[in-house]
Amino acid sequence: MSTTIIQPDSPTGPLTSYRAAVVHEFGRPLTLDTVPAGGLTAGQVRVRVEATGLCHTDIHAAHGDWPVKPSPPFVPGHEGVGVVAELAADVTEVAVGDRVAMPWLGYACGHCDHCMSGWETLCLEQKNMGYSFDGTFGEYATAYARYVVKVPAGVDPFDAAPLTCAGVTTYKAVKVAGTRSSDLVAVFGVGGLGHLAIQYAAIAGGRVIAIDIHDDKLTLARELGAEFTINALEEDPIEAIQKLGGADQAIALAVAPKAFEQAYGSLRRGGTLVFVALPADNEVKLPIFETVLNGITIVGSIVGTRAELRDVFALHAAGKTTVIRETRPLADVNEAMADVEAGRVAARIVFTP
Ligand code: NAD
Ligand code: ZN
Ligand code: ZN
Repeated sequence: MSTTIIQPDSPTGPLTSYRAAVVHEFGRPLTLDTVPAGGLTAGQVRVRVEATGLCHTDIHAAHGDWPVKPSPPFVPGHEGVGVVAELAADVTEVAVGDRVAMPWLGYACGHCDHCMSGWETLCLEQKNMGYSFDGTFGEYATAYARYVVKVPAGVDPFDAAPLTCAGVTTYKAVKVAGTRSSDLVAVFGVGGLGHLAIQYAAIAGGRVIAIDIHDDKLTLARELGAEFTINALEEDPIEAIQKLGGADQAIALAVAPKAFEQAYGSLRRGGTLVFVALPADNEVKLPIFETVLNGITIVGSIVGTRAELRDVFALHAAGKTTVIRETRPLADVNEAMADVEAGRVAARIVFTP
């Protein structure tokens, strides 16, 4: 792609460098570095980051946990919200000064079968923010104008950040689950994703069972609308949920294969298990016979589309969802990651750059 004319909002001209949190080596602490801004290419925008959420995916990225790995050095972050500061000359979708969200789906081709049918999240040519190109853990981030989503005026940027991944992902997972009025929905893991999954399942009409291994998360789950809660360290979730009649849908959001197996075991006949979490240990053991005889559906769900993120923002602007988050400086990124891994965070950490 050729470099195009840039229209910056700054009288000093286009940005040349900015501070960002960088992964240099998998499993090593991130460092705060000055990184080159680079020129904008066709379709790109530069965004001055105001808020950027810490998703467990950023931790997987920094650890190199998954079969497809990012290439260090890289800047993680895909729950970025900020104000457009520069545009490539061909950009028409947004203007300098617009507040936008920068999600995981950073770019897609726009013309394959998946893109054409509203499933751009399955595009084979997609690029992912904070994974295949530098993300939002910095003072600035470069994004593709077609894949950022405008944040409505009524939505606080510090709420918008967690909604940009945790929100849209669980909104989509509940859609994929097919939750309808009075369905029993088991949400395994009440973290950044789970605290929002509870709310979307309830909005869809579901009666929610929340499962975690920390009691404070279960207290929060009840405050957010869960009717039943189970501490999986104290009680067998399969037994407890089967006693309630079995879950119509179970959504696996805990970073532990065992929770997937428990989610499977909690289903009633005809139930649906949605895989969302992506633990480093990439295997679960599930029985064939029972899956067939019980008519079980198992489905994977990956983030959500731009249109779905707009829905998520609209629900929030209408007062239908609550984002539980604490703000920390980006300089504390390593401690923040350790706290998320240890379950010491109420729901989401949002960084200020
Ligand atoms: P998180 O760390 O905030 O939440 C995980 C929660 O699971 C915590 O509350 C933790 O206490 C709980 N937990 C851990 N072990 C458990 C167990 N055995 N049983 C029950 N609960 C348990 O993480 P997050 O940011 O919500 O992300 C969750 C997972 O989802 C990560 O693997 C992340 O990479 C993945 N993710 C997937 C998508 C997607 O599109 N499919 C999108 C975003 C994140
Ligand atoms: Zn995420
Ligand atoms: Zn495509």
